[in-house]
Amino acid sequence: MITRTNAKSTHVSMVVDGIPVDLTRKRVKNMNMRIGPDGTVRVSAPFLMPERVIIEFVRSRAGWIRQHQASAQERAERLAIPEDEREALRKALRARIDRRLPYWEDRMGLRSSGYRIRDMKTRWGSCNHQTRHLNFNLKLALFDDDVLDYVIVHELAHIREANHGPAFWSIVARYLPDYKILRRRLK
Ligand SMILES: [Zn+2]
Repeated sequence: MITRTNAKSTHVSMVVDGIPVDLTRKRVKNMNMRIGPDGTVRVSAPFLMPERVIIEFVRSRAGWIRQHQASAQERAERLAIPEDEREALRKALRARIDRRLPYWEDRMGLRSSGYRIRDMKTRWGSCNHQTRHLNFNLKLALFDDDVLDYVIVHELAHIREANHGPAFWSIVARYLPDYKILRRRLK
């Protein structure tokens, strides 16, 4: 068991029925559990909650947790790119983005300040609202142009709208009326 402590919270790594759990105790009213994209189980609980209550909480959700972890693992394996293929994929994706990005910038009247391709774990793309710099996930190389277009339009729309509010989605829908279908293909 590893414990790290600071004034506002304490962190404990524990194992419950073979499931590794990161427990954070902090000033919260209720216990809360989430599973990270890598399958890590994170529980936050009030300082004074007895440990057996927390263990019981995790234990009662063990089936659900294992199911979640299995699909996270499956997804990671399906999308893992071997090292030697990485460079070729990066080059191929760069060529496609260099073709599609200026097209969408012209159509949408929004200009980025540049982009980078990164091997991101949890996001398909990102946009720095302030600098207008975009990032694209290397794994987009495994998807067709329709999906790539969706991510490009999505990130360019963030130049105008930082958050995913109705105004944001109406920009995306204006250029890609079928965006919901494309978005689902990335899930
Ligand atoms: Zn977004």
